[in-house]
Amino acid sequence: MPERPASLTIFGASPSPAVVTVTTASPGQRFVRAARSAAVLWAFAVGFVFVPGLHFVLVPTFLILGAVAGLRQLRGTEVVSGVHGTCPRCGREQDFTAGNRLAPSWMLDCPACHNTLTLTLESESVPSGLTPRA
Ligand SMILES: [Zn+2]
Repeated sequence: MPERPASLTIFGASPSPAVVTVTTASPGQRFVRAARSAAVLWAFAVGFVFVPGLHFVLVPTFLILGAVAGLRQLRGTEVVSGVHGTCPRCGREQDFTAGNRLAPSWMLDCPACHNTLTLTLESESVPSGLTPRA
């Protein structure tokens, strides 16, 4: 699913449609990113070995944080590569900054009018319990 329908909203204006382009990171890219984020935190853990009194707390904490951060990167497969839409405030059609992980909604800044917009993905399917049966 390379493109997802979404809407841009801001308080006091009617929402406008947007298109979110999604890329899926390859397993190799994911592994590199996971290893990198784990390595940074594990480097801190090694550094804290030499902090007297605190290393009992800090070393295991950062070892766990490194593992958690690495696992999170391994699972985070969908990355937003582009957002294209019309600003509901100033009405300018443009490409917004992207690069974050795909989420149900997130905040965007309009480069033209510097308002903070909320981007919300359109839900793909209606929950089955709400579908009227023929
Ligand atoms: Zn704007």
